[in-house]
Amino acid sequence: MDFEFDLFVIGAGSGGVRAARMAAGKGMRVAVADNKALGGTCVNVGCVPKKLYTYASHFGHDFHAAKGFGWQVNNPDFHWPDLVQAKKQEILRLNGIYGNLLANSEVTIIDGFAHLVDANHVRVNGQSYSAKHILLATGSKPSIPSESWAKHTITSDQIFDLDEFPQRLLVVGAGYIALEFACIFNGLGSQVYVSYRGDSVLRGFDHDVRQFMDSELAKQGVNVHYQTNIKAIEKTSQGLLVSLDNGVSLEVDQVLVAMGRTPNLANIGLEQLGIEQQQNHTIKVNKSFNTNIPSIYALGDVTGGPQLTPVALAEAMILVDNLYGDNHKTMDYSNIATAVFTHPNIGCVGLTEAEARVEYTDIEIYRSDFRPMKHTLSGSDERSLMKLIVDKATDRVLGVHVVGEGAGEILQGFAVALKCGATKAQFDQTIGIHPTAAEELVTMREPVSA
Ligand code: NDP
Repeated sequence: MDFEFDLFVIGAGSGGVRAARMAAGKGMRVAVADNKALGGTCVNVGCVPKKLYTYASHFGHDFHAAKGFGWQVNNPDFHWPDLVQAKKQEILRLNGIYGNLLANSEVTIIDGFAHLVDANHVRVNGQSYSAKHILLATGSKPSIPSESWAKHTITSDQIFDLDEFPQRLLVVGAGYIALEFACIFNGLGSQVYVSYRGDSVLRGFDHDVRQFMDSELAKQGVNVHYQTNIKAIEKTSQGLLVSLDNGVSLEVDQVLVAMGRTPNLANIGLEQLGIEQQQNHTIKVNKSFNTNIPSIYALGDVTGGPQLTPVALAEAMILVDNLYGDNHKTMDYSNIATAVFTHPNIGCVGLTEAEARVEYTDIEIYRSDFRPMKHTLSGSDERSLMKLIVDKATDRVLGVHVVGEGAGEILQGFAVALKCGATKAQFDQTIGIHPTAAEELVTMREPVSA
């Protein structure tokens, strides 16, 4: 049977664009459809604008620190509309680059919402397209609670472009998105509150990292209310009056909900085709990213794996290599490094202490909690944390966890070391770079007792 396209990609985010470009590079006839701006969450309302706003927020801390180094910085004035406008310009530039990359690869770009018609047909804007393979790479969107108070909240999709700077912000949740925005707006000058159902932020991270961040957030004035949920939100003439179920009432300008993300799958046609989903509604795929329909594949956030751009990119490259090359690779999800762009940064790779204790009988922990050199003069009481988890039997380093300036940057190299199976002895043989915070990771000699 002859098809118009070899590959029809639904979703022009990180995974979809990479798959489309790579398949086209292998001589395939490829189309990609999306009803939103090219680049998906990462480019438009995720990694990229978030990182730009993180840079903006760091100035807030640095203006305070500058005095200790002899600078007089009197009353620096932050202008939110300027930041929003500069960010918009940059995102538009990136949208254009994505468009050019696809067009130069001879990928057909279709602007519209795509529905599956059958195993080899997709309909967009009333027109039907046939394809030998279809890839679902529709990503995810912020989950919105079903409670009635949710109508007064915003998500990470809206927060970048608020007309007015929120002088008082309540963030609901204490995961990646919640804490990154809590720190961004704290640095920009907002009074930030966090409402979290748990007793320590960042569930799933190493317990030392979690406790350390609880303390760092408190020190910088982010007011976290633990073990509480929102009871009600009422609009008043002054803003939003939020009642927490711990009895506290807060008046704020905006409430940001950051309670996880939901796959973008509504109205795509999964049910008609009988495409199997998992309990959390993500699409079930095998190791080759194949759904239960042989011609239909899925990858990235819609499949429920780690919701990280580099993971979607890697999955896309493996899929295309396997479909149109002679490779039979599978994705290795071990030792994926991750960073949380809080203030201070968090960077982690490998196992947490709790995970290592389950998998290994005897582990050693190396931990260092210190005042970074910058803060000997800055006047800030911010500290840094470095932690290594080592398997005693093999001496292999199982986990590296860092909280401190540049932790995301530091961790990438250590992720390579862990991929190579580095041992603690090899860490010890590595000469430090002085004076850096990172050298601490190769100079910790004595394990801690607990
Ligand atoms: P997370 O899973 O990181 O955090 C969700 C937060 O919401 C948790 O604190 C969670 O609490 C809380 N929560 C969830 N459901 C409820 C509920 N019903 N009631 C009360 N609280 C609830 O999700 P995010 O939305 O922050 O981010 C989604 C994903 O996006 C991340 O997991 C990450 O993979 C990716 N991401 C990566 C970034 C990076 O690489 N720097 C940046 C931003 C996002 P609890 O812990 O108790 O479950």
